[in-house]
Amino acid sequence: MAVISLPRTTLLVLCGVPGCGKSTFATRFFTESAIVSSDRCRVVVSDSETNMAASGEAFRLFRHIIERRLSLGRFTVADSTALTKKARRDLLNTGRKYGFNVALLVFDMPEEICLARNAGRERRVIKSVIAGMHKALRQTLKTVRDEGFDEVHVISEHDINGSSFAIKINSHEVTLPGPFDIIGDVHGCCDELVMLLQKLGYRKRFNYYTHPEARKAVFLGDITDRGPRSLDSFWLVKNMADAGSAFYIRGNHCRKLSRYLEGRNIKIANGLEKTVAEINGLPDDEREYFREEFINLYREAPPYLILDRGRLVVSHGGIREEMIGEVTERVRNFCFFGDVTGEVTEEGLPVRRDWAKDYSGEALIVYAHNPVPEAVFVNNTIDIDQGCAMGGVLTALRYPELEIVQVPAFEIYYDRAGFASENQALRRQNELLQDDPPS
Ligand code: ATP
Ligand code: MG
Repeated sequence: MAVISLPRTTLLVLCGVPGCGKSTFATRFFTESAIVSSDRCRVVVSDSETNMAASGEAFRLFRHIIERRLSLGRFTVADSTALTKKARRDLLNTGRKYGFNVALLVFDMPEEICLARNAGRERRVIKSVIAGMHKALRQTLKTVRDEGFDEVHVISEHDINGSSFAIKINSHEVTLPGPFDIIGDVHGCCDELVMLLQKLGYRKRFNYYTHPEARKAVFLGDITDRGPRSLDSFWLVKNMADAGSAFYIRGNHCRKLSRYLEGRNIKIANGLEKTVAEINGLPDDEREYFREEFINLYREAPPYLILDRGRLVVSHGGIREEMIGEVTERVRNFCFFGDVTGEVTEEGLPVRRDWAKDYSGEALIVYAHNPVPEAVFVNNTIDIDQGCAMGGVLTALRYPELEIVQVPAFEIYYDRAGFASENQALRRQNELLQDDPPS
């Protein structure tokens, strides 16, 4: 076993005899805050790592912290021995409750190694306890594959010390089944976004919106540029992502803004000029704060998301079936820009191939980027960018219901190659049709 690859919504349950090296392994491979340790909880509640009488309280805290992290969608490592079926079942059920992938990592280490390591550390466990736990480990290894975990990995001393051993956390994989509200390009239309969230049933809490039935919003990138309130749109999305009530993926406008904020020399056009004007109007400290937070959100965001265990894929510019699961430069570019040929039209717009026309995959692909007047399903794909900033509508697709919810733009904030005037004409046509439906 060389690389263990895990979705970002994973609860990784460590399982092994005291002294086998679980905590050492965890600090080597994961950030400190992702690791929830039962021994640490024992210290927190009773000031002592060896106070066995405090086990009940320590494990309540252990489970509580894990649950709180899962509720915010955070990758979590449960560091305890987990050598009883009950302990494992409790952790499995907790992970399930939040739609997480629950992976078990069993440390299959020889007893002599555990005894030697235990003898060499400050906090020593009694020898007979290690022997008893070893029996439990042998039993666990026999039955653990039938306990319902999504993945079981058994690792040996040899695996861990191998130079090619690695653990990869895939930020583009989210196992949650939904329900989701997938929202197309916001492009600074914050008023319309707030109205759309309200229409979808979200309610304001502190500085973010949350759904009473724990629905999650999925933003398809291009939060800023063109509309009047790019910065407010960004904060709304960021606060929702922080609160665990939204996911965000990168769009090409996000990429450009991030590069601008990093001080690179880029062309300020295509709506970025409006965001830059907003940024320039900020006091110095707020500008710096925005710069850091935007870059952070962008840097950590994936180019696309596989949701509901592969039944749903969302990407700003779309994705081809064979690209799903891969993250390469080619895939990233496709997700930003769609299937561009490199040529431009007479109006200066990029020429795009219609990848959706040939799509025949099972996953529903929801994308945006290319504004079209209507959101229509084509071969199990749907483009939900209806050009809100250009006088169109802001669209959400409810999943799994597949209902469209929309808010029309309050104004035309930006016209790009006649989209706004075309859109106005289409809307007038639709209004006329509604007044006088064809018989
Ligand atoms: P417990 O269940 O009691 O918390 P543990 O499985 O977390 O035990 P650690 O505390 O990580 O075990 O490790 C026990 C001792 O072994 C520590 O002193 C640690 O430094 C040492 N150790 C851990 N992993 C290795 C390794 N791969 N090679 C050498 N020494 C190790
Ligand atoms: Mg430990």
